[in-house]
Amino acid sequence: MNYFLYCRKSTDVEDKQVLSIEAQLSELRDFATRENLAITETFIEKQSAKIPGRPIFNKMIEQIEKGRAQGIIAWHPDRLARNSVDGGKIIYLVDTGTIAALRFPTFWFEPTPQGKFMLNISFGQSKYYIDSLSENTKRGLRQKLRRGEYPGRVPVGYINDSRDKSIAVDRKKAKIIKEAFELYAKNESRLEDISAFLAQNGIVTRGTKRSVKRSQVSHILLNPFYYGHFRFLGEIHEGKHEPIITKKLFDKVQEVLRDRGKPQRKANDPKLLCGLLHCGNCGMGITAEVRKGHTYYRCTKKSKTVKCLEKYIREEELDRQLSQELQKFSLPEDWANRLLQMTAKEEQGIAHSSAVLTQASRNELQDIKTKLPRLLDSYLDQDVDREDYRQKKADLMSRKKTLEEKIGELEQGRNSWLGPMREWLKDAQNIGKIAQNSDLSAKKVSAKKIFGSDLHLSAKKITGRPAIQWAAIAAAHEKTGKMPVCNLLERVSGVGPPSVPWEGTIIAVIRHPPSPAIAGFGGAKPADARDGGIRLAVAPKGAKAGFGLHYTKL
Ligand SMILES: [Zn+2]
Repeated sequence: MNYFLYCRKSTDVEDKQVLSIEAQLSELRDFATRENLAITETFIEKQSAKIPGRPIFNKMIEQIEKGRAQGIIAWHPDRLARNSVDGGKIIYLVDTGTIAALRFPTFWFEPTPQGKFMLNISFGQSKYYIDSLSENTKRGLRQKLRRGEYPGRVPVGYINDSRDKSIAVDRKKAKIIKEAFELYAKNESRLEDISAFLAQNGIVTRGTKRSVKRSQVSHILLNPFYYGHFRFLGEIHEGKHEPIITKKLFDKVQEVLRDRGKPQRKANDPKLLCGLLHCGNCGMGITAEVRKGHTYYRCTKKSKTVKCLEKYIREEELDRQLSQELQKFSLPEDWANRLLQMTAKEEQGIAHSSAVLTQASRNELQDIKTKLPRLLDSYLDQDVDREDYRQKKADLMSRKKTLEEKIGELEQGRNSWLGPMREWLKDAQNIGKIAQNSDLSAKKVSAKKIFGSDLHLSAKKITGRPAIQWAAIAAAHEKTGKMPVCNLLERVSGVGPPSVPWEGTIIAVIRHPPSPAIAGFGGAKPADARDGGIRLAVAPKGAKAGFGLHYTKL
């Protein structure tokens, strides 16, 4: 009687404990020798037997049906079949006598009714094992995901607590991670800079002393885990772990990642003011070089259309001009104090119920909460494919988190603009000091705030167009001495922004002369502003102007 030898080992988890192909082969050959069995061909398969359709197995069965062999040698019945189709096939071939013998070192089989019954059980057990294993794993995993537990190794900034299998915040590293997000959100750092920042603070590639790679940095910055969700097998889930950052900060970082922020020089670079100015003649960047111990700034002259003849300017002269320019935007202490008083008064006055304001967000949130299970249902019913499901779910989850944060802010009151307003007042107050001292990088930061990228150098002179709130201060300075400073007025409708939560900027509503583009917004009529002076305001994001404090000099 001829035997076929069949070995199988898959890469499946459940085959981890099974002997390797080589070990099976040598054991089975020994077994065959011992039992005096003639092997005519060996079949080796490296595939799971969970589902029917193994090519080698099918080839072997074909050969058996052609009468090339009458028996099979395998390590255990579960090597032959782990699904009901293949198991049934074997038993059928035994029933019809095509297979006369099955030999396993680990299992005794004889082609009797009882033997077939036992074999069936053995195949069945394998199948039961598979079914229960994947069911258990899946069920365990699903429950874990539903409970918001991330089933894997947590990202840096978190610790897997092995005692109770929970996820804890690594206070020290979490702080660094948050700072890295904030740093990147400023759009002044490259991924390499973030990597260096992390390394300075002790966050390096796991198990090495090397700083993390660019790709790892972006992996961190793209990970929703940090704001409380997590991605598992491409799907977003709500985690129960503590967030390190807000969704808002995360979104800001995603924006910057998309925009691919351009790098700037480090603070201790000798060419400190690079990246701040553009050539007023050709629009190219202004660069620097050191000659005979002096730093000179000049146009890069990279324009292909303009032949630029702009001259060099020495750093000392550029510094002098910059300081002079900055001085125009400093907010005198007495003005600042009065504006701060107004802000404080407004803060006390804000007593609106947040219920009305949050209603729209609450409705939308409720809507998403009903949509999510429906989406899952339609995915399970196979109405939508996996990719669509993942994408739609990710969108809904992202929106959900944003709304939750928004409602949280609203519930805190309508005061969200107060912080930025005060911050701006503080910034404006500091400009004077910064203009007077010699810290070039502080001057650069201030100039960026005031002018953005609209600062030019031409004919050795710097000129720029300030953002509107800064222009308002400069305008007020121009009036000083020409008009008496008489009062600081509050608009009838108050200084708070017209919509909450506030996501805008501090701007001037009216300055002198009143600009038609901004006058009249939200009831701030030009007549209201008296003539001249400035009006500092908070404006909602995207608005041309807003309500606010105005500082009027008559
Ligand atoms: Zn130029």
